Amino acid sequence: MDALVRRLVIRIVLRACGAAAVLAAAGWLLADMPIAGALAGLVLVLVWELSVQVRAAGELSQLFDPDAWPGGAFSFAELPQQLSDLETRTEEAEQRLRKVLKALRSTARSFPDAALVLNDQGEVVVSNRQARRLLGVRKRLDKGRPALKLIRDPEFRNWLQRGGKDLVRFKSPEKPDSWLEAQRVPYAEKQFLLLVRDITTAVLADKTRSDFVANASHELQTPLTVLTGYLESMSEDEEFPERWSDPVQHMASQCDRMTRLVRDLLELSRLETSETPPGFAPLNMMEVLGDAVQVAMARSSGQLDIRAEIKSQRPLLGDEAEIRSVATNLAINSVAFTPPGGEVVLRWQANGAGGRLSATDTGIGIRAEHLSRLTERFYRVRGEGSPVVPGTGLGLAIVKHVLTRHEGNLEIDSKPGKGSTFTCHFPTKRIGDE
Ligand code: ADP
Repeated sequence: MDALVRRLVIRIVLRACGAAAVLAAAGWLLADMPIAGALAGLVLVLVWELSVQVRAAGELSQLFDPDAWPGGAFSFAELPQQLSDLETRTEEAEQRLRKVLKALRSTARSFPDAALVLNDQGEVVVSNRQARRLLGVRKRLDKGRPALKLIRDPEFRNWLQRGGKDLVRFKSPEKPDSWLEAQRVPYAEKQFLLLVRDITTAVLADKTRSDFVANASHELQTPLTVLTGYLESMSEDEEFPERWSDPVQHMASQCDRMTRLVRDLLELSRLETSETPPGFAPLNMMEVLGDAVQVAMARSSGQLDIRAEIKSQRPLLGDEAEIRSVATNLAINSVAFTPPGGEVVLRWQANGAGGRLSATDTGIGIRAEHLSRLTERFYRVRGEGSPVVPGTGLGLAIVKHVLTRHEGNLEIDSKPGKGSTFTCHFPTKRIGDE
């Protein structure tokens, strides 16, 4: 008999004898019935042990998989067998886990992107084979070194130091002609995964497209100037046949539209390809917003209340032409989408936390589902009773590019039927002293 079971049987027999002896003595003293007392003692102990066994079996079968017990009941006799089955199952699970780990390691090795696990100090915990090829990170030697010491590109440094939101593009530290893109993904507690992929082909394709658009736009400028010139002469010529007056006007307005499109495409392409960051010239915001208000007033034909509010004398530090383009684009949009009688306010505010240039209107507003797409090239809200307003669909794309170049960002707040506020946020380093 198993030692455990033997000990259990001895304990039950001893308890039964003890109880029988005590109750036999009590029965003899009280009623002169020692045998009945002893029997009662035995029955009591057996009932007690039975209830203990039933409870223990219940608890054990909850601990272990009930299917593992024949008939769903726990039994001590089968305990050794069950334990050995449990051991076998644990070994099998371990083997399965080892296989999964092996598969994971080989996936990480054949992964086309570089993957680095960094701790909360930004130091390398683990790196894969591609990290060596793309970033020159050595598996063992660079373990524990800060990622910023391994990838010294300023774009990457700024991005990681600002918390690594969205994606960042930077030149490969290994091959200066290659472009890389990094993404920061939360990984485990106090760790994150840095995924870096080679995007050289996509960057080159993008550049080819951008060069093509810039060249085509540039080539269109001269024919458009010639056409516009002739159309102007025709409309001013008093001897020109009257019946041609409407078609000439129509052609002139289409030429004007194409000229604006070409101008915006060239500006966008210049912003996209420019490798020189904007300077830090202190801009007189009163003048910048004042001029944008003048342009907006000319467009509104006096039907809107348009004004500028300068809430801070601290200047914005940036590129004047680019910031003027932002203010004018926002002002023109506010005028275009605000019905007569409405109000448009351009505002400049700045303090120690940064600066804000905003355009608020009481216009038609924009439905929430369009907001995230407005800065895409040529994205315009159509249908749903939106007015057909002439425009290129490039204004907000230009605004976004200028802001990115000035380390800022655009926030759009709008309520359909009530109006919109477009706010350009600038960081502290772009705000000068009074
Ligand atoms: P464009 O104004 O030339 O169409 P934009 O890129 O400047 O191009 O704007 C894209 C679209 O965003 C507009 O066509 C319009 O649908 C919407 N939009 C921009 N500004 C406003 C505004 N202030 N109020 C309502 N809709 C606006």
